[in-house]
Amino acid sequence: MKTHLFIMILFALLIGCQNKNPLSLENKNINNKAQIDSISENVEVEIHARVDTSKNKIKEIAILWIEYLNSNPDIVSDNKFWNTEEKRLYNDFDFSRQLLYQFPSEQLLKYYKPKILSLEKEGENYAIRTIFSAEDQEPQYSKSNPWCITKLYAVKEENEWKLKNALPIITEDWNKEKVGKINFIFPASHKFDRVLANKANDFCNQITKEFNFQEWEQFDFYITQNGDDLGKLLNFDFFFAGYTTGIGMYENRILLSGIGSEFYPHEFIHLILPKFDRHPLIEEGFATWKGGQGGKSFEESAERLANELTQNSEVKFLDVLEKKWGWQNAAFYTSGAILCQAAYNKGGVDLVNSLLQIENNEDQLIEHICKLLEIREEDFDDFWREEVLKFTSI
Ligand SMILES: [Zn+2]
Repeated sequence: MKTHLFIMILFALLIGCQNKNPLSLENKNINNKAQIDSISENVEVEIHARVDTSKNKIKEIAILWIEYLNSNPDIVSDNKFWNTEEKRLYNDFDFSRQLLYQFPSEQLLKYYKPKILSLEKEGENYAIRTIFSAEDQEPQYSKSNPWCITKLYAVKEENEWKLKNALPIITEDWNKEKVGKINFIFPASHKFDRVLANKANDFCNQITKEFNFQEWEQFDFYITQNGDDLGKLLNFDFFFAGYTTGIGMYENRILLSGIGSEFYPHEFIHLILPKFDRHPLIEEGFATWKGGQGGKSFEESAERLANELTQNSEVKFLDVLEKKWGWQNAAFYTSGAILCQAAYNKGGVDLVNSLLQIENNEDQLIEHICKLLEIREEDFDDFWREEVLKFTSI
């Protein structure tokens, strides 16, 4: 959660950089440049001495990767450097895109400059490992450097090299078990728990039924033991921004878990909630209300927030919404959950569904909540505090 704050600071920094010093478009020399002189790159990519670009295949793949980094990889498009099969299967085919490019790639890649560390043959494929790090950072930012290290693959497709995600390569030999509409996929070292798997499928069905959601579509659920192993499936050898133990890709129907369990109710909710550009306070709130968060149930999270809020009488709802207060006790998620509970108490399933229709528009969030819960806007802060403090235990 600390990373959120860091991202906001970094965003200011990137914008600041841009204003002070318009990002240059010149081509700078890179190591081994003599070998790679056919590319005119906007984003500068360094190559470590370990990468032997005198070998033709290595040189071709390095060029492919550098061209990809120069092709606005933050934008979903029919990118010619990616393999056709994955582009056919997934609209958002580069699984590292969302976490890596939390800023436009042109800005990010000039600040956290890519350097290819290794490019090695693994079976039939070639693995490309790249570090994204910044130079000359202020001491307060250097702790957050590097941004990440990626590892993805190059494969041959009709005699041309194309990029490929690590996920299908890493999980090629993993075991698969289908329970209901969930395809559980896990390494041989993981002992499959059928009871929990059934509980997971039942949970998705039960929430769908209780809230009259449209039928949910099946999804692939990859189980790993920790955040780093999860990251590898998203093409990260090391990642920082967005480091997590659970991530769902709604459109791709893929869920990744880093907690080593078949049952991950919070993340299931994100995969079964009807697709809608709703406000994250409501989306995360509903997932926390029905599925808990951070290993805690809704009630435990609510009690923790209430006890903290009791001791901080000056805190307002906006401090939570703008993430100025309460990250350590997940105040944002839990406040959303408490609002879902309040809506349920007032108007049952129908009112919760109306809450779930609140769009992702910061300016109108409070107005919409107040309208639904029939509160005057000037009373909203008191209402929020009162609802939270119902869970106090001290
Ligand atoms: Zn969530």
